[in-house]
Amino acid sequence: MIHEIFPVGPLHCNCSIIGDETTREAVVIDPGDDIEHVLALLRKHKLQVKQIVITHGHIDHVGGAMKLRAATGAPILLNQNDYAQLKMLDVQAAWIGVAAPGAVEIDQSLTTGDVVKAGAHAASILHTPGHTEGSICLYFPAEKTLIAGDTLFAGSIGRTDLPGGSMEKIMQSLHGTVLALPDDTLVVPGHGPLTTIGDERERNPFLVKG
Ligand SMILES: [Zn+2]
Repeated sequence: MIHEIFPVGPLHCNCSIIGDETTREAVVIDPGDDIEHVLALLRKHKLQVKQIVITHGHIDHVGGAMKLRAATGAPILLNQNDYAQLKMLDVQAAWIGVAAPGAVEIDQSLTTGDVVKAGAHAASILHTPGHTEGSICLYFPAEKTLIAGDTLFAGSIGRTDLPGGSMEKIMQSLHGTVLALPDDTLVVPGHGPLTTIGDERERNPFLVKG
């Protein structure tokens, strides 16, 4: 599996490109910004984008999606519970002091039970509300990799004080869904360094049980 992970935009959202070495099909996850760089990496690996997946409707994760769709023709997928977030992208832009990206159109909703494929590499979608109502994670069981969005970070968890956030729900998502994954699962958070489920189970102060 080709897996490029790189920070984009002023908030350093971790964007992922997942590609199949044989079919050259790819999925781009959270193209928040810096689409020229995303396109350069796709060209470098000779990949064709089949789907653009957004882990949740915050501007730093979705801001570049329309530009990437225009350049590649690939559809944009986001859980429908976060469509409301897209209606307030101008407000979100003002919070962090960046230009509003304009309207974002979603082609398809994604939720638990759905599968996203980059060639032979398949991810199960896990609906993990809490940071936002429509937050999702992508779990690649064969590759032992979780793209966690802003649900789980190395040593921390996503904030729940923004509209649609819920501490109760993020705790349910983490203990009920995310921590059910094997310890040796690589976690790619929405921001910051990579980690593993085992490390977070053992050391994350928000998850360790007294
Ligand atoms: Zn977020």
